[in-house]
Amino acid sequence: MSFPVPVLFDLLLKRHGPQHWWPARTVTGMMVGAVLVQNTAWTQASKAVDQLEERGLLDFTAICETPDETLWDVIRPAGYFRIKTQRLKALARFMAPWGDIRQVIHPHNQELRLNLLGIHGIGKETADSILCYAAQQPVFVVDAYTKRLFLRLGWVDEKAGYDKMQAIVHETIPMEPHTLGEFHALIVRHAKEHCLKRPRCQNCPVVICPSIPN
Ligand code: SF4
Repeated sequence: MSFPVPVLFDLLLKRHGPQHWWPARTVTGMMVGAVLVQNTAWTQASKAVDQLEERGLLDFTAICETPDETLWDVIRPAGYFRIKTQRLKALARFMAPWGDIRQVIHPHNQELRLNLLGIHGIGKETADSILCYAAQQPVFVVDAYTKRLFLRLGWVDEKAGYDKMQAIVHETIPMEPHTLGEFHALIVRHAKEHCLKRPRCQNCPVVICPSIPN
């Protein structure tokens, strides 16, 4: 089966324009935000990132040295604050010797991905978000919105896993960090405006979708 992924990308870009992701001011803020946004909305995660910054804790060494109880209070807006404190500390222990993810980039990207996946609480979506938006590596981030859209387009079935959906994109559009990051951001925007749980198909830009009204 061939997938008109570039057509989908063009339709979304034409409607929504560039999304300027990731919505964080610094690379560290982006990485910390990728953990804090797990199972919550970005608006909540960004409040926690801002509070870390205000307290001078948006720094991997500082996160390592701060007592858990202090971090619980600071990141509370992101929810699951005890679990996320453990995850932030695991990421911080990995990153503290380096400071910046770009210092850790290995010529073989797969190795950095495996290292990130070895950190407590970092799954494929979080690792790939860090790779794409912080490390500027050519990786497409798959999330629940991607699956919902690809299902409705008839490109995958319910059983489709992360790797299969990522491969559909990696095999069809240029392996370039900006393009791949833009595509993920456009899918998120589309899922919030049109392809919601209850889709708003009227005036949807994805004219290749079988559900598009005549
Ligand atoms: S036509 Fe409906 S189901 Fe298809 S992509 Fe648009 S909003 Fe989603």
